[in-house]
Amino acid sequence: MYDIEALYEAQSPEHAVKLRAEHPEAVIIAGGSDVLIKIREGEKAGCTLISIQKLDELRGVTVDNGGPHAGALRIGALTSFSHIAKDPLIKKNIYTLAEAADTVGGPQLRNIATIGGNVCNGVTSADSASTLLAFDAVMEYLGPGGKRLVPIKEHYVAAGKTALNPDEILLSIIIPKESYENCYGHYIKYAMREALDIATLGCSANVVLSEDKKNILRLRLAYGVAGPVPLRAVSAEKTVENKSVSEETIAAAAKAALDDINPRTSWRATKEFRLQLAEELAKRAIRESIKRAGGVL
Ligand SMILES: Cc1cc2nc3c(=O)[nH]c(=O)nc-3n(C[C@H](O)[C@H](O)[C@H](O)COP(=O)(O)OP(=O)(O)OC[C@H]3O[C@@H](n4cnc5c(N)ncnc54)[C@H](O)[C@@H]3O)c2cc1C
Repeated sequence: MYDIEALYEAQSPEHAVKLRAEHPEAVIIAGGSDVLIKIREGEKAGCTLISIQKLDELRGVTVDNGGPHAGALRIGALTSFSHIAKDPLIKKNIYTLAEAADTVGGPQLRNIATIGGNVCNGVTSADSASTLLAFDAVMEYLGPGGKRLVPIKEHYVAAGKTALNPDEILLSIIIPKESYENCYGHYIKYAMREALDIATLGCSANVVLSEDKKNILRLRLAYGVAGPVPLRAVSAEKTVENKSVSEETIAAAAKAALDDINPRTSWRATKEFRLQLAEELAKRAIRESIKRAGGVL
């Protein structure tokens, strides 16, 4: 049994926002894989819940046909990780996210855990976060005043804290067309165990190569658990811009990434080990991204 004061079921996204305004102390529940554990462990015992679980309009992946984000991929906040791992649009356009989704927990968890819950808990180890950051995702919030768009970099405010106001919900995650077009990537999760474990470090890279596949036009590199929030390795990205596809370029980027990150020592791993992982995983993720883009090393 869970210690819950009351449960309200939203009938539409607007109704969820209204419920949030009426019950400011209440907690949104999507898949519940974080929230229910916090209730059982006492941290949120006795809380009031607003369930958005039945809002099917927030499930699935589509492409925007027109409007300001024409061609963008739109991932509904309630889309589960098992859906994302198999979705044809995701697999075709941002395979890296399907890869990341497949590393979350085990099959049962992936059936209930949502991508929205993964980024709204504000946790640095969230397996989808570094890939979303590396693809410059834009978060679409809904509040009493309507929708607002927030770049994922600004969505993460501090450990466990996002830019969502108490009366807002996350509707969808938008991946702009220019972020994924001609772009190939790879996500690597390093964890103590191969299954059902939280990342010790996560690393997501993607590249755009020149037409002859000889140069790196653009690199994006992002980490989870390399700081209090998921972060981009901007120095590493700049280091390789317009450089030749080579092991030396990859090594230079991986080394530069160490200036961008600030991992800490925790019971899972020391800071030093995480720094070593960050350099090695960057090399592996960039190397694989280049190969997927058709580059030869
Ligand atoms: C056994 C186990 C293993 C796990 N393994 C992993 C793992 O390998 N990798 C990983 O990244 N995570 C892991 N997790 C954590 C968790 O499953 C994920 O973070 C999951 O994506 C959370 O999604 P949810 O829908 O269950 O979120 P919920 O528990 O429903 O919500 C999480 C938080 O987000 C808020 N929220 C949810 N949706 C919205 C929305 N649309 N708008 C506003 N706020 C919202 C909630 O209020 C809450 O604060 C694991 C959890 C368990 C229990």
